[in-house]
Amino acid sequence: MEKHWVESIAPLIRQYGKRKHPLDYANRYQLVVMVILSAQDSDKHINEVAKDFFKSYPTMADLAKASLEDIQRLIGSVRNFGNKSNWLYKLAGTVGDDSKIPTTMAELTKLPGIGRKSANVIIRESGDVAEGIIVDLHVLRVAPRLGVAAGTKPEKVEKQLMEVFPASMWNEVGMSLSFLGRETCRPTNPKCPNCVMKTVCDYYNS
Ligand code: SF4
Repeated sequence: MEKHWVESIAPLIRQYGKRKHPLDYANRYQLVVMVILSAQDSDKHINEVAKDFFKSYPTMADLAKASLEDIQRLIGSVRNFGNKSNWLYKLAGTVGDDSKIPTTMAELTKLPGIGRKSANVIIRESGDVAEGIIVDLHVLRVAPRLGVAAGTKPEKVEKQLMEVFPASMWNEVGMSLSFLGRETCRPTNPKCPNCVMKTVCDYYNS
């Protein structure tokens, strides 16, 4: 059966397309810091850790004055905090001010600790022009189950999704697939009977 993904994904986009990312950030500075901290850790934990972090460093300019040791102390409970402390220390030194946080994929991915996935999240949450599609662990599981992409490599899955959907949908598609994975299409026991994508899903229909 030939699938028309742009039409088929409409109910999912209606459900999640505009929903804010679960990281509880208040501005772009907080978003960038929290996206870096959340790699391989849970959004819930980062929302907790961030409270004290932003009390100590309310802006990028404040963070640029911090010592590496102080950053390490504040994020000591975060997974891979050693690398993340270095990245935040260098990033704050490079960017220097909230107003200078980049908006494009090329500039964002030059910053320490920010790869394509993180840049796609920052661009989507900022409402900037999409240059790719968020492929996190959830999207990496959901897209092949649906049959809209194949493989296990994030870059390859992202490329396939970018070929299926027009650029105007990229910001919404990635995060919608991610929310589907977080809430319904769980690693074990996906809740298929409740899923808005079940009629077109390879996994469910096989
Ligand atoms: S129908 Fe099931 S396997 Fe397919 S996307 Fe939905 S929850 Fe995942």
